[in-house]
Amino acid sequence: MDNTDVRSWDNTHFVHPWEGMSALGQNERTFVETARGIHIFNGNGDRLIDGPGGMWCTQIGYGREEMAEAMAEQARQLAYFSPFSNTNSIAARFARELARRSPGDLNHVFFTTGGSTAVDSALRFVQFRNNLLGRPEKKIVITRQKAYHGSTYLAAGVSGKERDRLWLDKADQFAHFLPDVNPLYRGEGQSIEEFLEEKIVDLENAILTLGADRVAAFIAEPILASGGVIVPPKGYHRRCLEVCRRHDVLYISDEVVTAFGRLGHWFASEDVFGIRPDIITCAKGLTSGYAPMGATLISDRLIADVAGRDATFSNGYTYSGHPVCAAAGLTSMEIIEREGILEHVRTVAPVFQERLHDLSRIGIVTDTRGMGLMGCVQCSLDGDKHSALKADYDIGARIDAECQKRGLLVRPIVNMCVMSPPLIITEDQVHQMFDILEEGIRAAEQCDGE
Ligand code: PMP
Repeated sequence: MDNTDVRSWDNTHFVHPWEGMSALGQNERTFVETARGIHIFNGNGDRLIDGPGGMWCTQIGYGREEMAEAMAEQARQLAYFSPFSNTNSIAARFARELARRSPGDLNHVFFTTGGSTAVDSALRFVQFRNNLLGRPEKKIVITRQKAYHGSTYLAAGVSGKERDRLWLDKADQFAHFLPDVNPLYRGEGQSIEEFLEEKIVDLENAILTLGADRVAAFIAEPILASGGVIVPPKGYHRRCLEVCRRHDVLYISDEVVTAFGRLGHWFASEDVFGIRPDIITCAKGLTSGYAPMGATLISDRLIADVAGRDATFSNGYTYSGHPVCAAAGLTSMEIIEREGILEHVRTVAPVFQERLHDLSRIGIVTDTRGMGLMGCVQCSLDGDKHSALKADYDIGARIDAECQKRGLLVRPIVNMCVMSPPLIITEDQVHQMFDILEEGIRAAEQCDGE
């Protein structure tokens, strides 16, 4: 098949996520046909390291026969059955395995089709419970600038990038935004401890001002992924949870990116950040990207408040608990366990982080930040961390183009590149990846002014 045909079909018919309208129909997207392990092969047959790991999701790597076999076998046995008044055994088994690995008493699993629907379902459950508890006015969700929680109306409504909320006119009715939690932008002379304190006071003041009787939940990513791998100050999540507990506000931890090994544990909330949230949302690494699936994990405590009531949680999808997706999820989990991938991440992550931070030697790099196998390098042509959104707009794309020529795909976000390779990446491959990234950044720096 001729790549020219594919490009033409793509440009004529495929409307992509976050499709930029100015270049509609004229895009030159990297076209991928096959992938193996941590590598993708583009339309020219070039082999590239998959720096973003798909979209933070290809935990066990590409092309696993065992995954293909498990999914094919499930499709032969039972490809689909309605989850509404029936069930299927593999989804029930998967729910139990998730509950066994989840923190605290998060024993109830609501299966969804991805991350957005997991967040949407979490928010709908919170509202549902409050209605049943006779407090229908307790509906506001507190979130932060730069957070990303998804693309349905509710999930996008609590996502904090202005650009993504442009047409969500009603979101102000249920969402309240607090300022960014990126320590890079703390005040002149402000210590990290003072910055942390400010964020905790922010949250508590917002609850008090809005009224605890009107605030239902606080939603937070352990590390704000799409916002540019923002790592909040140490102790932030624990302190936020304490504030929430004081005011009977639920804590929703959006682990769509951080669960299933990205930070070296099944879930980051408890094992990395020491908190037991009321609800966890997850997706992506849940099936290692082999099938679209998400899950909302709800605590025993919350379920006890609604169990036995004469009410229906009217929220759900044709594909909730889809058998083939559940087979993918269970098999991916088995592989992660059998191959010791969580332990592997804990071993290789320090090397990844060291190489990441080492990039700060390069002139245009204004910040490097990350944790586990998540990283972000932020650039600015004049080296000013605050001026990033002017001339620097396409630095990320330029770095990506330079890296692709050299065998690495990165994910550009404006003036940043975020990295989250498949978790099976070896130490040698981490070095290869950062060697190319460094060359790519230096080349992008050179082409300034051309
Ligand atoms: N929450 C977080 C933290 C995410 O990063 C994403 C996706 N990038 C979502 C929710 C939405 O997930 P999905 O794209 O699968 O709907």
